[in-house]
Amino acid sequence: MKRVLLLGGTGDALAIARDLPAAHVYSLAGLARVPGDLACAVRVGGFGGVDGLTRYLRAEHIALVVDATHPYAAQMSRHAHDACALAGVPLWAVRRPEWQPQPGDDWRDAAGWTEIVERIAPFHRPLFTLGREALGHLHEVPASQHWTVRCLEAHPGHARATIIDARGPFDLDGERALFDAAGVDVVVSKNSGGRATEAKLVVARERGLPVVMLARPALPESDQSFDDAASARDALQHWLTRP
Ligand code: NAP
Repeated sequence: MKRVLLLGGTGDALAIARDLPAAHVYSLAGLARVPGDLACAVRVGGFGGVDGLTRYLRAEHIALVVDATHPYAAQMSRHAHDACALAGVPLWAVRRPEWQPQPGDDWRDAAGWTEIVERIAPFHRPLFTLGREALGHLHEVPASQHWTVRCLEAHPGHARATIIDARGPFDLDGERALFDAAGVDVVVSKNSGGRATEAKLVVARERGLPVVMLARPALPESDQSFDDAASARDALQHWLTRP
């Protein structure tokens, strides 16, 4: 029996996991909700770096790793690459294509936090959609700004920051209402790709607002790469039924 380890934490990964029979394993870091309705096994928590993952692959007789983590979860992807090489296990990756700017977009690239701060300096009401990262910088909110930070974490915020604990997908009407309520004048985003969190870019375009786009991290090579969950799922079904 060929066993698959699916590295998840994304909607794409969950879509693949829904088709995986009981012998296979869906792995989550432990930050997101843990689904309770999957046929496959679900494990939660880190493996303990490359060494831990290599040991896991060997002990659990894993024959294929599918990395369907978020494109900014670069550490997990690097560990998967290195551990698969050490254990002699093939690695597939689901890599959502980046969003591309459309006519009317005003995107400003940022390589990291320092550049984000520089790019938003002229604005007053940034909306951060980077995940938790902005929470570690709340002490830096300048007197001229009020930040709105949307992430998967409950947090009291403070006088110059509002924290919204919300999970996508987000639709256009909801995003328009958020932009209105928060008075957003600049958006800070990862280039996550996919549909679930794209609406904020449409609203920024509608309103002529700039988007500060954090560059994607470099990701390792894989034996096969897929743009979306559907193509990875088809290839996986084929691989599982192949003798
Ligand atoms: P990361 O920096 O690449 O990984 C940090 C550590 O978390 C890894 O070294 C690993 O610990 C553990 N880990 C990550 N993904 C795991 C998985 N699927 N199964 C088991 N352990 C995992 O990851 P991150 O950016 O913190 O993201 C954590 C999780 O949230 C990922 O599963 C990712 O798909 C999901 N997510 C991330 C983002 C984002 O923007 N970064 C957005 C949406 C969802 P060990 O070294 O101990 O193995």
